Amino acid sequence: MKAAVYPGSFDPVTYGHIDIIKRSAEIFDELIVSVLDNKNKTPLFSVDERVKMLCEVTKDMPNVKVDSFSGLLTDYCRDLGIHVAIRGLRAITDFEYELQIAQTNKILSHGEFDTVFLTTSLQYSYLSSSAVKEIAMFGGDLSGSVPDLVRDRLLEKYRNH
Ligand code: ADP
Repeated sequence: MKAAVYPGSFDPVTYGHIDIIKRSAEIFDELIVSVLDNKNKTPLFSVDERVKMLCEVTKDMPNVKVDSFSGLLTDYCRDLGIHVAIRGLRAITDFEYELQIAQTNKILSHGEFDTVFLTTSLQYSYLSSSAVKEIAMFGGDLSGSVPDLVRDRLLEKYRNH
């Protein structure tokens, strides 16, 4: 069985991420979407909140599981017996950053680990979690960017901020 991990911050999950999840789930038998608990970042949503939103938006995708991890992606994947990560590419700026991470993971895993890149669907190429947070903060229209349940959590957060 071919499995892959799609790691990321997902703070919060957007239609851009969901598109990558759907497409990867068609390529692999099993996909684990895993929220990185990065102690160097101050996210808007806790890991639990991000996992919960991902579970809700993937509930109709039978071969997709949601998890979280901290530490090195290569260690996490080795423990799961998985050696492929999925990442999405929107623009050349993503490529430079992603290439460096992919090469680092290759070296850390002694050549065992591969990164598969899916290019963004054009309608989501502008979309990022940071842009979504900014739109939410100023009360802009989020309908083309995130599912309603994510929009509601965003509005709740900024109402209480
Ligand atoms: P990071 O993991 O770098 O903190 P994110 O959680 O936002 O960032 O994204 C996880 C992965 O999804 C990254 O590979 C990112 O490039 C990709 N991604 C984010 N938004 C989109 C999008 N709109 N289209 C395609 N890929 C995307």
